[in-house]
Amino acid sequence: MTLDQDTINTILLFVITTTGAVVSAIWLGLILWTWRDMQLRSRDPLARIAASLMVAVLGIFGIMIYIMLRAPETLAEAYERSLEEEALLQNIEEKPVCPGCGRPVKEAWQVCPYCHTKLKKPCVECGEMLDLPWNLCPYCATPQPMPQPAESPSAGRRARRRSRSAPQAPVQQSPAQSPQYVDDEAYEPVEYIEDDGY
Ligand SMILES: [Zn+2]
Ligand SMILES: [Zn+2]
Repeated sequence: MTLDQDTINTILLFVITTTGAVVSAIWLGLILWTWRDMQLRSRDPLARIAASLMVAVLGIFGIMIYIMLRAPETLAEAYERSLEEEALLQNIEEKPVCPGCGRPVKEAWQVCPYCHTKLKKPCVECGEMLDLPWNLCPYCATPQPMPQPAESPSAGRRARRRSRSAPQAPVQQSPAQSPQYVDDEAYEPVEYIEDDGY
C-alpha cells in the first residue's frame, strides 16, 4: 500500500505543478498583454504600471475591469482621426460660405440667394466684384463711394466710421486672411430685394 500512496502523491504533485505552471503562465500573459495594450493607448507610464498592477493583483477580474475602463481608441487611431478631421475642416474652410446663413455661395455672387445677405459690390468704374469694406477698386484704382445709398442709416453710420478710422482699407487687410469676407460688420441684409418666400 506504501507504493500506491507514493504513486498517488506523485500524481497529485504532478497535477498541482502543471496546473500552477499553466495558471502562472496565463497570469503573466495577462499582465504582459495589459502592459502592451496600455502602451498603445496611453503615453502615461504611471497609468501603464497601475493597470498592470491591477491585473497582477486581481487576475482575470483585473482584466475585465481594465477592458471596461481602457481608452476606446489607440494613440495611432486617435492620431489618424485628428488628421481626418483637420483635412475635413480645411475642405470646409476653402469654400466661401454666406456669413448670414452659412450656406455655400459662389465668389462672383453679389447677394446670397437664400437669405439676401449682401456679399459683394460691383466697382462703379469697371464693374469687378469687390469686398464690401473695400473703398478702392484693386483692378482699376477707382475710389468707391461709401456709404451706399441702399444701406440702412445704421449701416451708413458704421460705414462712415469705418472709412474715417481706416482710410486705407486695402492696406489694412492682412494677407493671411481670406480674401473674401473679412469684415463681418459690413454684411447687411439687402433691403431692396423683396422676400419671394422660397
Ligand atoms: Zn445667406
Ligand atoms: Zn474698378
